[in-house]
This record gives sequence, structure tokens and C-alpha cells, in this order.
Amino acid sequence: MLNITVLGSTGSIGKSTLDVIARHPDRYRIIALTANQQDELLFEQCKQFRPYFAVLLDESAADRLRKRVVAVGLDIEVLCGKEALVRVATLPEVHAVMAAIVGAAGMRPTLAAAEAGKKVLLANKETLVLAGHLFMDAVRRSGAVLLPIDSEHNAIFQSLPHDYAGDMQQSGVCKILLTASGGPFRNTSLSDLQNVTPDQACAHPNWSMGRKISVDSASMMNKGLEVIEAHWLFNAAADDIQVVVHPQSVIHSMVQYVDGSVLAQLGNPDMRTPIAYALAWPERIESGVAPLDLFAIAKLDFTTPDFERFPCLALAYRALRAGGTVPALLNAANEVAVAAFLDGRIAFLDIPRLIEAVIDEVPRQEVYQLQDVLDADTASRVAALVWVEQKAK
Ligand code: NAD
Ligand code: MG
Repeated sequence: MLNITVLGSTGSIGKSTLDVIARHPDRYRIIALTANQQDELLFEQCKQFRPYFAVLLDESAADRLRKRVVAVGLDIEVLCGKEALVRVATLPEVHAVMAAIVGAAGMRPTLAAAEAGKKVLLANKETLVLAGHLFMDAVRRSGAVLLPIDSEHNAIFQSLPHDYAGDMQQSGVCKILLTASGGPFRNTSLSDLQNVTPDQACAHPNWSMGRKISVDSASMMNKGLEVIEAHWLFNAAADDIQVVVHPQSVIHSMVQYVDGSVLAQLGNPDMRTPIAYALAWPERIESGVAPLDLFAIAKLDFTTPDFERFPCLALAYRALRAGGTVPALLNAANEVAVAAFLDGRIAFLDIPRLIEAVIDEVPRQEVYQLQDVLDADTASRVAALVWVEQKAK
């Protein structure tokens, strides 16, 4: 039995995780489920999975959940707040943590799980973007097992040698080929991009995901964050990570070797595949995903990314090369920009404009400790909010 905490269980990744776990009641036991404020869905999940702990960030939502849990006689401790997230990620009886909170809010409990030496199933890419150095150090020091959930990184993990120890040259790897669907606006002209709506941005052609990552996919910031994520996970330099636009989302990424071989992982675009892979690693379990029908797909296309229409991708490469706190500045500015776009306060093409203005304005610092990252995150959010206010005038 693997005892598991699911951080962000009410989200898109969280629900897919529970879907896979429900297929294997003999292998997994849920210790804790957590959400921001969705107490109704969390209650349904509590009834089905009977965790020992349920955590809500929001206090009134936690009160509502506590009453409901008592009313039906469930023996579940309902907790509230950020410290409770850290607590359920580090409990001694927990073997594995699914890190599926969205945004910088997921960093502290994810980092805490790594420091506690857990098996970390990492969906929250923002942790690596913000604090990649600190997080990877924590994994090494504690002996935590790190398994990427992001479909591309999971594919790369599967395509690298099993004993890959972070040295590309020694393993005969020359490039990481990170595939990108191109998102809903792959063929939209720059002038039409000016007027796209949040709903259009969230209508991803291949994947069903939360709204924040959907907008990131539309702007290609998601791919930019994934370049930074790949850098930390696989110790790959920016120049060794190449983005390949592949609209069918069948090849989830590839690894190119010095002898000319390219290894890829293929599958239907359904997050239950990487989730099942990470849950059972190094074994394989059934995930509920339909087998890939190559004849129905018939053909696979590949093109280079358009950095002019998708400046977020170039900004992410720039942040990775700059290092220090610049990726944290990029991430926070992006979170503010995406929220403002979803609220109808700024236009889609303002997202990269805002991010560029913020990383030009807020000075770069070195990262020695977590506080340096948190300070950069705050400074970036303040500058980004000022930018939004001025724009809205
Ligand atoms: P989502 O918005 O669907 O779900 C987010 C979850 O986090 C919810 O359970 C929500 O209640 C919780 N949450 C939100 N804000 C919180 C806060 N401040 N404190 C505590 N909990 C909070 O997001 P998602 O699409 O499932 O994405 C989750 C993470 O996985 C993101 O980092 C995303 O980049 C990554 N990811 C998602 C996908 C996907 O297919 N959805 C694929 C790859 C990576
Ligand atoms: Mg991805």
C-alpha cells in the first residue's frame, strides 16, 4: 500500500489522479486531500476516498466541510490554512505526495514534501520555475524520489536512460526535444490575437486543463515555464532544450542521442497516463486511457515555434539564461497578467508586454534562500499590479 497525499485534489490533475487511484484500491490509500475553497467537491471526494485529513485554504469553506463531515459520521480531521498544507505533505505515514496545486501557492508544501524525503509526483511546475535550485538541492539532500507529471517531462523521463544522473554528455544525450501543441491560437494572426477572449484562450484543442494553465498554453508561456522546468529536472542548458510544435499532441516529447537515435513517448493526450506512470513507477498500471489508434491519427506534423506571435516563449528563455530571481519575476508577473486577462482587465497581447516591463524594471538578485524567491515574487506582483492599474485607466 502506498500512502498518498493529493495537494489540489479538486483541480484537473487532482481529479485525474483520484480517477487512477480509484481503479487500484489495493495499491493506494489516501491520507489527505486538499483544495482552495471548493468544499462541496472536496466533501464528495472525502465520502469516496475516506482520507484521514481534508484541508481547505479558506476558513469558512473548512467550517462548512467540517459540519458536513460530522453530519454523515465520517472520521476525518478537517484542517485549514497554509501550514496545514505543509503538515499533510510531510506526515510520517505519507509515502508519496501529488503536488497539483496551481501557481506559486503550491511551492511551500511541495518543497516541504521534498525536504521530508517523500516520493514527489510533481505537477506544480511553478515550484521549479521559482525555486528550481533550492528544490533540486532538497531532493538530493533528503533522497526524495522525484517523478515528473507534466506530460512532456514525464515523456523525457521515460526516454532518458534509467540510470540518468543529470549528465547529458555522459549519457550520450545531445538534445531534449520539448513538444508543444501550439495551443488554440497556433494559426491565429498577430492582429487577430489582439481581440481574443478568455473563453477562446481556454478552449485548448487537445487537452482539458485548469484555466490558468490553459491561458499559459494559449500564450505559449506554458512551454516557456516547461523549458525552465526541463532545465532543472534534467540538468539541461537552455541551448540544449528545443521546442518543437507538434499540433497532434501524440508525441509528448523526445530525447535525441549522439548516435542519431531519437527516443519518444507517445500516447493519447490524457494526463492519466503520466499520473499512472508516476504512481506505479517503476511498474506499470492500467490508467483508463484508451489505446493509441495510430491509423486514426494517420499523420504527425512538426514545425518551429513562432517567437514573434508568442513572445512569452522568448521571455522564458531570457529568464532562464538570466537566472537568479528572474524566473521567479517572470512567473509572478505571468500569474498577475493571466488573472487580469481572465478578469477582462487587460488584452491577451498585454500578457507578454506586462511580463517584459516587470522583468526590465525589478532588479535581478541571486537566490541563496527561499526568502530571496518570496521577495522577488512579491516585488514582481506589486510591479505587475501597478502595470495593470495604469493600463485600466
Ligand atoms: P486547477 O486550477 O484545475 O486546480 C488547482 C488545484 O489547486 C485545485 O484543487 C485548487 O483548489 C487548488 N488551489 C488553487 N489555488 C490554491 C491556493 N492558493 N492554495 C491551495 N490550493 C489551491 O489546476 P490544474 O490544471 O490541475 O493544474 C495544477 C498544476 O499542474 C499546475 O501547476 C499546472 O501547471 C500543472 N499541470 C497541469 C496539467 C493539466 O493537464 N491540467 C498538465 C501539466 C501540468
Ligand atoms: Mg505540459
